[in-house]
Amino acid sequence: MSKILQFHRRREEYVDLFSETHRFKVYTERHLDQIAQIQRLPEEQRFAMHVVAKVLPFRVNQYVIDELIDWTNIPEDPIFQLTFPQSGMLEKSDFDHMAALVKSGASNTEIKQLVKTIRDKLNPHPAGQNNLNVPMLNNEKLPGIQHKYRETVLFFPSQGQTCHSYCTFCFRWAQFIGDKELRISSKETSQLHQYLRRHKDVSDLLMTGGDPMVMKTKYLKNYLEPLLEKDFEHIQNIRIGTKAISFWPQRFVSDEDADELLELFTKLVKAGKHVAIMTHFNHWREMETPMAVEAIHRLRATGAVLRSQSPLIKNINDNPDVWGKMWRIQTRLGIIPYYMFIERDTGAKHYFEVPLARAWEIYHEAIKQVSGLSRTVRGPSMSATPGKVEIQGITEIAGEKVFVCRFIQGRNPDWVQRPFFAKFDKNATWLHDLKPAFGKEKFFFEE
Ligand SMILES: *Cc1c(COP(=O)(O)O)cnc(C)c1O
Ligand code: SF4
Repeated sequence: MSKILQFHRRREEYVDLFSETHRFKVYTERHLDQIAQIQRLPEEQRFAMHVVAKVLPFRVNQYVIDELIDWTNIPEDPIFQLTFPQSGMLEKSDFDHMAALVKSGASNTEIKQLVKTIRDKLNPHPAGQNNLNVPMLNNEKLPGIQHKYRETVLFFPSQGQTCHSYCTFCFRWAQFIGDKELRISSKETSQLHQYLRRHKDVSDLLMTGGDPMVMKTKYLKNYLEPLLEKDFEHIQNIRIGTKAISFWPQRFVSDEDADELLELFTKLVKAGKHVAIMTHFNHWREMETPMAVEAIHRLRATGAVLRSQSPLIKNINDNPDVWGKMWRIQTRLGIIPYYMFIERDTGAKHYFEVPLARAWEIYHEAIKQVSGLSRTVRGPSMSATPGKVEIQGITEIAGEKVFVCRFIQGRNPDWVQRPFFAKFDKNATWLHDLKPAFGKEKFFFEE
């Protein structure tokens, strides 16, 4: 796959060029033995992967295995950590318990029971996703829609509730384990359109998942093309959250309906909408393959604007040089750095979390390395129940060491951009660990 490609080829040419890599082949828990054998992973590791994959969803594809993971650097390789289960992802006691069950040849029922117990401990729905943000239409709940911030409606199209590969740290992991109750999604195109029609203060529609780019173009069209009608003039920005440039860039290059997808974006842009592709890269390595570079070129050629948002994750990218390089590459490729997030309080958090103080240091060390064009990135920020809270810095005021914080987004729009102070705590990893500074009882947004 090392051929230098030109801009603006037709899809058919890519299919020829990449004939060996354009077929989507996916692997799940039952393929772990096969992968371990091919990559010569030690027996102990193979077993540990099985144990963890009982609890946390695992899915990977041929592109990730062949093009992204460096198999000579296992287990440290960041893309291996990003996609493959690791023993440390379960608490030691849970891991040992599950390992013993699996070894003893326990029944499926027994294993399932333990799986459920462990999952329930992993806070499957952080930030009140299931109950706080679900809106109503004609006295009916709309389970596929979340409306938390006035300007932006999140939509979870039912065909987009999976991903081309799963991130081990995923905060939406609960959606992938097949538990209907935990899933947030919607079948209803008409519900979405009705809702948007009635909410003229909404300017942004954010299609999310899973990954909406697993959807066939024809479904995406059903949702998006009607937005060109006069009724939807207020919907100015159409955002699409996706990790497909990392996990399956073929989606924009050689997939059967890749051209049709790009034509859809072009049409929306020409009609005056801002199409914002919210990309998700955890490491610069994901932007190094010719296929990924080509996907980015093709997307930009539609007139869509690419931005990047990504969490800071221990064992994957908790290093300022990785972020600095990532932002430089993104800026060169025409992707605007947008958010650095703090890993949410869910799933295997203990394995991935980085203290807020360290997160700010990494952000600061990284942003020092880049030019002003990359300093559009905000963070590190927590997407928590009251809103998106950014750690702006660590300083001393009147003899007290504090975190300087502000809301980037707030459940109440009036909170946005208001600075506030939290007592410095070197171990705090999330908003709920923070206490108000200067002996105050409550933060202003708790009053
Ligand atoms: C982040 C987020 C948005 C978008 O926020 P912006 O700051 O406009 O990018 C919208 N809804 C929810 C629930 C979010 O978490
Ligand atoms: S791409 Fe996003 S939704 Fe999909 S597994 Fe990764 S973090 Fe989760």
